[in-house]
Amino acid sequence: MAKKQFKAESKRLLDLMINSIYTNKEIFLREILSNASDAIDKLCYLSLTDEKVGLDRKDFRIDILVDRDARTITVRDNGIGMTMQEAEQNLGVIAKSGSFQFKDEMDKEKAADDVSIIGQFGVGFYSAFMVADEVTVLSRKYGEEEGVQWTSRGADGYTVTAIEKESVGTDVIMHLKPDTDDELFGTYLEKWKLKALVKKYSDYVRWPIHMEMERQERFETGETDDAGQPKYEYKIVSQDEVINSMVPIWQRSKNEVTDDDCIAWYKEKNRDRKDPCALIRVSAEGLVSYKAMLFVPGEENPEAFTGNNKGGITLYSNGVMIMENCDKLVHDYFEFVKGVVDSPDLSLNISRELLQHDRQLRVIGQNLEKKIKGELEKLMKDDRPKYQEFFRNFGTHLKAGCCDEYGRYKDFLRDLLVFYTSEDKQVTLKEYVENMPESQQKIYFASSDTLKRAMSLPQGDEVRSRGYELLYLTSPLDELVLENLREQDGKPFCNVVTDDLGFDTEEEKKAAEERDIENKELLDFVKESLGESVSKVRLSRKLQSLPCCLTTEGPVTLEMERYFRHGPSQEMRKVRAERVLELNGEHKAVQALKAAYDSGDKERAGKLAKILDTLAELMAGCEVEDPADFVAMVSDLF
Ligand code: ADP
Repeated sequence: MAKKQFKAESKRLLDLMINSIYTNKEIFLREILSNASDAIDKLCYLSLTDEKVGLDRKDFRIDILVDRDARTITVRDNGIGMTMQEAEQNLGVIAKSGSFQFKDEMDKEKAADDVSIIGQFGVGFYSAFMVADEVTVLSRKYGEEEGVQWTSRGADGYTVTAIEKESVGTDVIMHLKPDTDDELFGTYLEKWKLKALVKKYSDYVRWPIHMEMERQERFETGETDDAGQPKYEYKIVSQDEVINSMVPIWQRSKNEVTDDDCIAWYKEKNRDRKDPCALIRVSAEGLVSYKAMLFVPGEENPEAFTGNNKGGITLYSNGVMIMENCDKLVHDYFEFVKGVVDSPDLSLNISRELLQHDRQLRVIGQNLEKKIKGELEKLMKDDRPKYQEFFRNFGTHLKAGCCDEYGRYKDFLRDLLVFYTSEDKQVTLKEYVENMPESQQKIYFASSDTLKRAMSLPQGDEVRSRGYELLYLTSPLDELVLENLREQDGKPFCNVVTDDLGFDTEEEKKAAEERDIENKELLDFVKESLGESVSKVRLSRKLQSLPCCLTTEGPVTLEMERYFRHGPSQEMRKVRAERVLELNGEHKAVQALKAAYDSGDKERAGKLAKILDTLAELMAGCEVEDPADFVAMVSDLF
């Protein structure tokens, strides 16, 4: 029988397929099952108007048959089938869905060598050649007497012959490649493996997928042992089993499936013992139709940052899984959201690379983001402690989102941020502003590495004494977030450590400058004693109860310095904030320093200056560079 040649582009694709080192070969089963399911859809549709079909909805089925000796897997369906002409036409050329982009890509010379192309455009039927060295299709079209056999061993062509076939439908028989050192194609003959693949990719195919499964069963032998107990023997029994669950939970209406059912499903699927803190169910019809069931987990997955995070959103098209952990659907700031999105409008062959450009998916993504935000806002309003717990777990994602892409998403996210104003209270920026007394012009914040330290920074004293609230920032990201947000409802942010608090009148400012001039000699002396460790020394206008504090000038704050200290490069780790030592002239410790200086005891004055500087460093949460020296200096005072 004469071999017919594939069209040129199909041949190239087949070559790639056969020799491919594409790792995700297991998707072949999904592709073949999905074709079978489509073929059944077509005949089922026909049966609605054509009584002669003679099949009821419940009669349609797909079978997976395994012949270990022959080394074949057969996928059988009782769908619409193909005529000889259709078999040639449909199986002899590239799947139409992917062909357009593929041709485009093939024209770019180099791409032809790039096996990743296969990953980029799912290729339907052809994927069988990733695992099979020969594929035979036996088919009979509904309404035809004769069947067709189509056989190909790959790129060298295919044969077609007319055959007798008893029933309508299609068998795709894949003869598996021999095992190699690297790859054991024989594992696809294991039923547990096939079942696992069906569960993973095709669990929600609408038609039942049957397979003979083997099970060990216990039988009584009819005899008894010495103790008079019945004796048993074990036998392997085969049983036809439907291995897919068909109707996915997210396809069912809210009347059929309660929120509790969804939560139970989520916990089982994700092996999560904690209830999710939010559930979002969407059924959208319109420009783009889709169903979605999303969850905000109750706690951060401990593997989230190890690259093992398999959560995310899984994409389905009509119950056929297209992609796990689809990270392009929503932005990174919502990457903790888990669940499924199912849309008949999506192509099975969509790839990660093309996803970003898929218009439908973008529309879905944008809608879902609005829903997620809405649900989080609702949680914030209805159950603040629960929201705070959510924010403890996932707030970092939202904060990082405010800084991403030069703050592009900041306005979408700002109302979801909460900050501490006391040990047990967190507020949104909007709430903070609403709470401000009329006299208050700025949003004050104090920043350190722990809440306790931020709360005890002496620079906040004056703000608090006026009855104003302070935001306490506790992570290096926080300052960056505020920098990106710039303001809230027209009120600027003010770092109590570095910025002008804005309380002083012109006269007070002038008086302070005069005081600095008056004390210039002493301040210069302190600066000289401290050398490079500070860039300036001045009298403070912020301190009330404590003798001194550290303030910074320039773009780098102490928080940023701390952050960079653990940075990846030597250069980064050297970044240092420009320190300004502020002294409280009213405090007895500073007066003691002044007295020592005035009396000419420069040695003692120098030591006191160093002690005050170290105290300021300690209060700012910095480490003492030479603790032994510090201890010696303080001990000397007694
Ligand atoms: P796609 O499914 O994306 O169109 P495929 O390469 O998977 O591409 O299949 C090509 C065509 O072959 C299908 O569109 C269909 O017309 C036909 N086909 C494949 N498998 C079957 C089947 N089991 N029954 C009937 N037709 C089939």
